[in-house]
Amino acid sequence: MKSEVRVVVIGGGVVGVSALYHLAKKGWGDDVVLVEKAELTSGSTWHAAGLLPLFNMSYSVGQIHKYSVKLYQELEQETGQPVGFNQVGNLRLAMNQDRMDEYYQYAATARTIGIDVQFLTPGEIKKLWPLCNIEGLVGGIFHSDDGYIQPADLTQALAKGARKRGATIYRNTAVLAIEQSSSGNWLVKTASGDISCEHIISATGNYARQTGEMVGLDLPVIPVEHQYIVTEPHPELVKRRENGEPELAVLRESDGSWYLREENCGFLLGPYEKGAPCCYVDGPDPRAECELFQEDIDRLVPHIEAAMARVPAFAEVGMKKVYNGAIAYTPDGNPIIGPAWGLDNFWLNEGHSFGITAAGGAGWQLAEWIVEGEPTIDMLGVEPRRFGDYATKSYLIEKNEETYAHVFVIHYPDEERPAARPLRTAPCYERLKSMGAVFGQKFGWERANWFATDGMVQEDDWSFRRSKWFSAIGREIANVTANVGLLDMTAFAKCRISGPGAESFLDYFVANRLPKKVGGIGLCHALNKSGGVHSEFTILRESDDSFYLVSAGGLQRLDHDYLQKQLPKSGSVRFTQLTGANGVLVIAGPKSRELLQRVSRADFSNEAFRWLTSQNIVVGMAPVNALRINYVGELGWELHHGLEYQNHIFDALFAAGEDLGLKPFGIRAMDSMRIEKSYRMVGTELSIEYSAYESVMDRFIQPDKGDFLGRDGLLESKKTGLKNLLVTLEVRGVEDADALGNNALLRDGELVGRATGGGFGFRVNKSLALGMVQPEFSGLGTELEIDILGKTFKAVVVPDSPFDPQNERLRDVNGAND
Ligand SMILES: Cc1cc2nc3c(=O)[nH]c(=O)nc-3n(C[C@H](O)[C@H](O)[C@H](O)COP(=O)(O)OP(=O)(O)OC[C@H]3O[C@@H](n4cnc5c(N)ncnc54)[C@H](O)[C@@H]3O)c2cc1C
Repeated sequence: MKSEVRVVVIGGGVVGVSALYHLAKKGWGDDVVLVEKAELTSGSTWHAAGLLPLFNMSYSVGQIHKYSVKLYQELEQETGQPVGFNQVGNLRLAMNQDRMDEYYQYAATARTIGIDVQFLTPGEIKKLWPLCNIEGLVGGIFHSDDGYIQPADLTQALAKGARKRGATIYRNTAVLAIEQSSSGNWLVKTASGDISCEHIISATGNYARQTGEMVGLDLPVIPVEHQYIVTEPHPELVKRRENGEPELAVLRESDGSWYLREENCGFLLGPYEKGAPCCYVDGPDPRAECELFQEDIDRLVPHIEAAMARVPAFAEVGMKKVYNGAIAYTPDGNPIIGPAWGLDNFWLNEGHSFGITAAGGAGWQLAEWIVEGEPTIDMLGVEPRRFGDYATKSYLIEKNEETYAHVFVIHYPDEERPAARPLRTAPCYERLKSMGAVFGQKFGWERANWFATDGMVQEDDWSFRRSKWFSAIGREIANVTANVGLLDMTAFAKCRISGPGAESFLDYFVANRLPKKVGGIGLCHALNKSGGVHSEFTILRESDDSFYLVSAGGLQRLDHDYLQKQLPKSGSVRFTQLTGANGVLVIAGPKSRELLQRVSRADFSNEAFRWLTSQNIVVGMAPVNALRINYVGELGWELHHGLEYQNHIFDALFAAGEDLGLKPFGIRAMDSMRIEKSYRMVGTELSIEYSAYESVMDRFIQPDKGDFLGRDGLLESKKTGLKNLLVTLEVRGVEDADALGNNALLRDGELVGRATGGGFGFRVNKSLALGMVQPEFSGLGTELEIDILGKTFKAVVVPDSPFDPQNERLRDVNGAND
């Protein structure tokens, strides 16, 4: 056994073997090994149904799946090892208009990443799938490129390809422990010897939590039981084969929550049942191999009945075997692919519930990340650090079971699921609730999405179109614009960077200049190596050697881990986590100054309290750090405070603000207002896939200030020519639906970009979108087309910040509200 290599991959399922293959393909073949405790594929891989669905609502996962399917089509030719890829196509049925809307929204995402989707009428469905009863169908979509594969053969082909390039696989070799030396090198301990390495990739499927424990990680992965049924052959399918007719496409009735494909002239039916339990909660037996569970037919019955109604032939054959196996899950159903938090060179490739489909793309991007230092696509949707400490084992059990049962629900863009809630609540949670708040969950926090007022029922109304909350957020925005509103942003990620080296460290870490004066505030971005935007921080200088950093709540672990991994080893810079200690209440609107003046002795005039500055003040009797900034483009302050003071501050504001019209507003109102200001957001307009210049962040980038992280890559991106530019678009002619993001942007029918976000701008009374387009289409006045739920509308490039382009309101330039 080799005792020293660059990378050890742990786990010989399809996911681990694909990572090995891709590292070998990058030229590291002689320096990578894979260690499998039993035989290859003896975890979940061997019994998978082998489906390769291209369909996925996530931009990251969509690209990963697309890569995989293409790779698998070519793998047999490359390796000489058959993979059993049956490119039979994939047909998804729709039984209602909301489902069709979901397909339209998906098709737009698919189009932007180059996946071909056809829409079919019920008649066309019947032609394609003659055994399908089309009663009650409104339509469907068809992918001709996907189908199913033999998972074990695929794994063997990847193993062959990896070995051919020098990689080594050790079977029957369990990893028993992992240690890290003071130099940072890893020591992987196995019964057959120890291997020292620079990098470890954990691809251990159902054992993910056990592997994580070896290095002190609590991974957000727990498997759920998943079953499928294989039937005896059906005479009709046998006849079709004898007649030389092709296999039927994989069929999915999303509304009945099942998939169906042919298997040896019989059927294979896989449902996503309600009530499927988590399994291996305390981990599988270390000796478990090719394990299946006792089937649970009762759980399958509703889906069997639904399938019989849709495909009567299915009722005519006997059941041959039921497979009930473990399928790894995370709380949102997407895998975790990327760096582990708190550890250098420990990579996660775990939590795969569509692991056969995702293995290729996951291995591709991990190899890019490890060898080149960066992935090449935006991996936010599968980032391991998108979850936090709140994802405890008890949380995972509730959430993963819910996610499994929801695989086939309609994935509304504003969907909020009920399990494991409320978990993290700000002190003002109950107060907001009594004011009509309809909450969503972000990073475990309850956040008010909108307020049900004027007799509205206090519950959400999900849709791809403008729904019940549309008028409610219109009222919230009208009040912020005319009076003053309060938004709870306690979920913000907050930390302090301090110490003698703090200033020089941060100056290198971000692309903007740091605020010079104590109390000054700057919007700063941490780039990745190639000049894309990794993280966005509001940075406040507290003193010569102390800075307060605020970033998106949902990205707390990602942002803080990225930052902490860059800290100098000398110990000259300290990181202090403040997220759970500090609350944030945002006050915004023309009357915010008058309101604050009533509850505080501080001077809030333009002269005494300038835009982009902060002051330690007292509100009521509570100490508060007030920051004169906001994300909605109005005069306003963020009040940061010790959490224990929150309700005191909240009550003082509302007691003083009634006659000023103080009312709460929610996240959806904020999002509409930020689009009107063309404010970019990490994960949509800002991403590692686009250079900061492509996101047109020039005024926050100071290439002349000296070296900073990502500077070379950023300058290189400009030198080689920007491929995209971010624009603001006015969308004309829409009636009941606005751009949701991931919409195709077209010119004369040709794809020229993608909308990254959108919505209705209530203050400008226009439907708006932000989007990335090829530079030649970024000129003001350029007329493009945008696809919204299958219809094409005119989208005109307009100047940034359609609302108050000179920032007169937030700066209150005339002191009108002094
Ligand atoms: C019934 C069923 C049907 C499915 N159908 C599909 C489908 O149609 N399409 C699809 O895309 N996905 C499907 N899946 C999901 C798919 O099976 C998994 O996502 C995929 O197999 C995960 O692969 P993996 O390599 O991550 O995990 P695994 O295949 O479980 O491999 C992990 C490996 O790690 C090894 N290991 C663990 N700990 C150690 C250690 N300490 N030392 C050494 N080795 C270790 C294990 O022995 C195992 O071989 C299905 C799952 C089930 C249960």
